[in-house]
Amino acid sequence: MFTKFSLRTLCLSLLPLLPLLAAAEAPAPVASPPLTAIRAGKFIDVETGRVLANQIILIRGTKIEAVGAKSIPEDAKVIDLSRMTVLPGLVDCHTHLADLADAEPLNVLQRTAAEAAYLAIPNASVTLLAGFTTVRDVGVYRALNDVAMRDAIARGIIIGPRMYVAGAYITISEGAGAMTGLSPDIQLPWDLRYGEANSPWEVRQKIRELAHRGADHIKVLSTGAVLTHGSNPKSIEFTPEELRAAVEEAANFGLRVEAHAHAAEGIKNAIRAGVASIEHATLIDDEGIALAKQRGTYLDMDIYDEECIQSAPNTPADFLRHDAELGEAQRRNFTKAVRAGVKMTFGTDAGVCPHGINARQFAFMVKYGMTPMQAIQSATVNAADLIGHSELFGSIAAGKSADIIAVNGDPLADIHELEHVAFVMKEGRVYKPAD
Ligand SMILES: [Zn+2]
Repeated sequence: MFTKFSLRTLCLSLLPLLPLLAAAEAPAPVASPPLTAIRAGKFIDVETGRVLANQIILIRGTKIEAVGAKSIPEDAKVIDLSRMTVLPGLVDCHTHLADLADAEPLNVLQRTAAEAAYLAIPNASVTLLAGFTTVRDVGVYRALNDVAMRDAIARGIIIGPRMYVAGAYITISEGAGAMTGLSPDIQLPWDLRYGEANSPWEVRQKIRELAHRGADHIKVLSTGAVLTHGSNPKSIEFTPEELRAAVEEAANFGLRVEAHAHAAEGIKNAIRAGVASIEHATLIDDEGIALAKQRGTYLDMDIYDEECIQSAPNTPADFLRHDAELGEAQRRNFTKAVRAGVKMTFGTDAGVCPHGINARQFAFMVKYGMTPMQAIQSATVNAADLIGHSELFGSIAAGKSADIIAVNGDPLADIHELEHVAFVMKEGRVYKPAD
């Protein structure tokens, strides 16, 4: 039996052999990742707004290696989409994947954080299988559940889109992003009040915490909300000082800010503060449209979910009152913003409508003024630009992630085709085969 001393002596005596052992264990040269070739019958080039015929896309591992190759290399595995229309994976810039999809937010209180996380797993998978390979997820009641979901997807534990997450809602107490409607003597757990802030310095403190806890961007609530108890969508919540503090502090960590805003003044306060996008932008006025255009602020308008709010069986009565007439006003203002040439992205507020039907918004965007190509660009190149990762996704180009989808018909002739995505590849892996 070895004593401690003799074991140590033996170990020390092996020391000179270590370089040899390391050499023996060195891995064999890595084989290059497998090559896949996609034959695309029609190819929507979202960068130029053109449609190309009979393109070959080469994919090496997780990345696109070449587009428009003349021939298919012998060692490539071929995916034949020659009778389909191929386009980049879609991006929804306004989702809530990590929350319970429930019209009544107070139902969150009937579940533990772990239950909510498990129940949210299908939200991620149905979104990916609907053709959305990336989302910007803009807030969760159980703080940081979205960070956990993003990381579980990235590690391959669950399937879903690539997620960019907010970590929590930054909101005034009892404000649009708070868990409201409870008696004041109820004490909420930490994660249901994580983002509450009531001064510029409290806003900065929350952003510092979220930046260190893994948030990819910051969500602030500039005005009241439709789907919050005790809220008024026309009220102003954060002041211009607080919004400026948010943008400045987020920038210190390299993060962008998106602002929820319905009321015209709250929209303009947020644009002037320098946010990257306005969410909803429901009652934006002419001055707000001009400001957004001048500042290059994206509008991310969820114009398809009005009917879901009105028809969900358990939409609380006060939410229906908040919502009265806002849906139509938002659609009219969407048309004005498109005509004015404001930068627009595709964001649905998924979770208000069921997850996985996000693509139904495309038909509304076309009905209210976009061309089909503009609607597709809002969910691809524009979305990647807003999120700040045009180098990674948003178009099918050499060097980008192989996020590729296909539909059977021509979405430029009938935009509803995007509601039936028939092929989904994310990072070179096929999640929905074409057959
Ligand atoms: Zn939302």
